Formats: sequence, C-alpha cells, structure tokens
Amino acid sequence: MTDKQNIVVLGAGVGGLAAGYFLARTGKYEVTVLEKESVIGGLCASFEHDGFTLDYGAHKLYSVIPGVLDEVRDLMGEQLLTLPKKNRLFLRGHLVDYPLKLGNIASVLGPLTFLQLGFGYGIELLTGFFKRQPAGSYEEYIIRRFGRPTYELVFEPLADKVWGDPATLHPEMARTRVPASGGLEIILKLLGLKKETAETNAEFFYYPRGGFGDWPGALAKGIEELGGRIITNANVTSFQMSDNDIRAVEAEVDGKAQTFPVDHVVSSIPLPLIGRLVFGDADPEFNQAVEGLQFRHLILAYIFVERDLALEDQWIFFPEKNVVFSRIFEQKQMNPELGPANRTVINADFTTTEDNPLWQGSDEEVVKEVVDGLVSSGFIKPEEVSGSLVLRRRNFYPRYDLDYANKMQTVSDKLRTVPNLLTTGRIGMYNYNNSDHCADMGRFIADHLAAGEHPPEIWKALEQRVADYKIVD
Ligand SMILES: Cc1cc2nc3c(=O)[nH]c(=O)nc-3n(C[C@H](O)[C@H](O)[C@H](O)COP(=O)(O)OP(=O)(O)OC[C@H]3O[C@@H](n4cnc5c(N)ncnc54)[C@H](O)[C@@H]3O)c2cc1C
Repeated sequence: MTDKQNIVVLGAGVGGLAAGYFLARTGKYEVTVLEKESVIGGLCASFEHDGFTLDYGAHKLYSVIPGVLDEVRDLMGEQLLTLPKKNRLFLRGHLVDYPLKLGNIASVLGPLTFLQLGFGYGIELLTGFFKRQPAGSYEEYIIRRFGRPTYELVFEPLADKVWGDPATLHPEMARTRVPASGGLEIILKLLGLKKETAETNAEFFYYPRGGFGDWPGALAKGIEELGGRIITNANVTSFQMSDNDIRAVEAEVDGKAQTFPVDHVVSSIPLPLIGRLVFGDADPEFNQAVEGLQFRHLILAYIFVERDLALEDQWIFFPEKNVVFSRIFEQKQMNPELGPANRTVINADFTTTEDNPLWQGSDEEVVKEVVDGLVSSGFIKPEEVSGSLVLRRRNFYPRYDLDYANKMQTVSDKLRTVPNLLTTGRIGMYNYNNSDHCADMGRFIADHLAAGEHPPEIWKALEQRVADYKIVD
C-alpha cells in the first residue's frame, strides 16, 4: 500500500515525460505515462535509418528560462556536447548572417540592399514614436521592429511558408518566434554596435551525443528510477467521469482495453483530442472553439548524399519561394558520429495545409522538389543523391490566427472546470514552444501540485507563464 496519489500522464513526448519526471521527483505521486506509439520521445525522438541516427528536423537544447539548463545538465551531464551555433539564411543565392547585420548584408547583398533596408529601419524608428496602439498582426509587429523592406525580404516570405499569410497571423506568433528588442537597440545591433544577448541569439547550445532522442530518453530513465512507469503502445481512448472529475483513464494497451484509476491527469496529447475525451459533443460552443484552433502539417524530407559533409552550418533558413522547404539541417553537423564517413544526410522541413499538392502528393514528388531545391541552391549535385526518406506529421504546428486568443480563452475556461486535469506541451497546451519550455511547464506543474494548489489555479498561472515564452534561434 502507498499513500501516494495516482497521476496518469498522457503522451511520452518531452512535454509528458518532463511532467512525469518532475512529478515523480516530488515523491508524492505514483506516475504512469501512457504513450500510443511503440517508442517514446514524440517529436524530440531520434531514430535509426540507413546507418544514420536521425532527428525529426533540426533540434538544439537551449533555454533562457532560469534553471532549465541546470536541470538538463543534472540529468544528462557527460551525454551533452556543447556546440557553437552556426546557422544562416539563404537569400538571393547567398548565405547571410542571422540575426541580421547590416554590415554583412552590405557585403553579401550589395550597397543598394543595405541602403533600402537601412532606410526602412530608419523610417520605422522615427514613426514608431507616434504609434501608441500595440501591433495588430504578425505583419505589423515585424514591420515596426525591422522596417518594411526587411519584412518583405526575409520575414514575410518565411512566415508565409511556415504559417501562411502573415497579415492574418496574431502578433503573438512574431513575439514568440522572432525575439527582438525594440527601436534604437535593434539599430545598434544591426550596425554591429551592440551584441545580441542570450535572450535573442543562442551563441552555443547543447546537443545529446547520441541524438536528440537521448533527451526524452534521460527523462524516461529518470521517471523509472524514481519508481514511475512508462507504457508504450497505449492509446488513450476515453475517460471515466464522475461529475466533472476524471476518475479513470481508459486505454488500449497492445490492443487490449485497460483502466487506470487516477487522482490527477496531466495531458500532453493534442488539445482538440483531450477536449473530445472530456466533453464529447456536449458543448457546441467549446467544440467550435477547439475545432477552430488552426494547425499546419509538417513534412520532413531526408536526402542521403554521397559526401562526407554538405553544409558549413548546422541549419539554414530559406525564406524565398523558389524552393519548397523553409529550412535544411545536416545531422552530422551535430555529431559526425551519427552517420558513416563519406556519406551525409540533409533534412529539409516545411509545413503545409491539408489541400497542398505536396501533402496530397507522393513521396517521390516531395523528394524531387527538395532535391531540385538543394541542387539549384548549389548545395549538392544530382548524382550525389543515393537515397531519401519522407515523413509526414499531421497538425504539428500551432498556427495563431487573429482570433486564436479568444478561442483559447473559451477552450481553457471550459477545460478548467475539470478539477483534476492539467495540460502541458506543444500541442497539448496549444502553445508554440520548444522542448525547454515543455521542461519548464512540467517542473511548474509538479512544484505547484505538490505544494497543494488546485489544477485550475495552476493552469491559470501556467497560461500566464507560457505567454512569456520565446523561441531563440
Ligand atoms: C522542425 C522542428 C524543429 C524543432 N526544433 C526544436 C529545437 O531546436 N529545440 C527544441 O527544444 N525544440 C524544438 N522543436 C519543438 C519540439 O519538438 C517540441 O516542443 C516538443 O517535441 C513538444 O513535445 P510534446 O511532448 O509537447 O509533443 P510531442 O512530441 O508531439 O508528444 C506528444 C506525444 O503524445 C502522444 N499521443 C498523442 N495522442 C495520444 C493518445 N491518444 N494516447 C497516448 N499518447 C498519445 C504522441 O504519440 C506523442 O508521443 C522543434 C519542432 C519542430 C517541428
């Protein structure tokens, strides 16, 4: 017999595993993590293919949240490589520094572009003094900070590729994804007169020696060492409810129905799914709000190349529309031991909508587009390509439209009526975040629950906390 409370965590990505780990560490809970796939790690997992250890797109471990990297170091210690960050933008056939520097733009893209961009910054700096209203969209937010010419050259096409029309994106998308100071400080940084800070640019980051998947692996090991359990092939199918309380979680484990009694549930599975599990079709207003949250699908194309290394950067962004991908990443730049000598793999990632011809199309069509883009940009030669792999993930990128905050308000107000439910993670919280933020959420939930606070209060405080998260490139 134990006097510990039962917590079931739904999903074993970093969101679920971090919650499970920090909850188990309090010593107050019996933690069970249920994962529908046969492997843990979610989008932060690594997998083996054709002699390589591969990640699901470029993943680095970095954080500006106090204490998070300390936790990572405590858990992973010797497993971590410390890498200086090397990433750039590919523009007009050239590699350009990112964050942008006007001096670098002048030398790479020429004095005319330098003057255009500099003039745009100047105009915004001067007119900014008269703009009292907060920016109403992604477009306005970026133009006010960087000026229209830079917006049109870099941010507009990149945002359009990743999320679709930036004029219809909430400014929160820009605040989270493009950490930037304001006014004069931006100008000083652009002129190279002030250095970027750790808040706006990661000069170094951690990478687990054996692949990014070692990070969720370390959290899972921690859970098990603390007496918790992780059950894979466990697809959560329904809840047993008593009034608004969740009394038990029902899951198909290896195809057999199993019941897990709970005191609390922490969910990292998609927010629309948790909504359906709790309320079914009972509340049309809630359903309309949760179904109205927008997502983009993710396509990852891995191109195997007969060369030791193909890039000089770990990853490169491609704002322009002449290529289909928005970023390429070379796994062996993280650790050359993750693949054989004399061969490399370039991973291209991009997002689409359901009706996009490439989402609907065959893997061969995706590979052709990506290889054409890599060849036309001069990174590889067609005869060097020796293989490919295409992976697709439906609804993996939260897209904050202009009305998303209202929809989220309806969704979280309703879900908070369940007194023993908390959500966490990227799709679980519908929050555009990285794995360090997932770790922070898990730690926050565990600390506050163990201190005796009620989930609806914790949820409210967590929403305020995540509103400040920033993704730092
Ligand atoms: C291209 C790309 C690059 C990125 N780069 C970085 C980076 O550099 N650094 C960084 O830290 N982060 C990065 N991220 C973000 C990072 O991947 C996410 O923040 C993180 O993976 C989110 O973890 P999660 O646990 O919330 O979600 P997920 O990883 O999606 O995990 C959710 C889990 O729930 C499971 N699940 C779903 N439904 C059920 C069900 N019914 N029953 C049981 N289980 C279920 C899923 O199988 C999955 O394992 C990147 C993301 C992308 C797409």
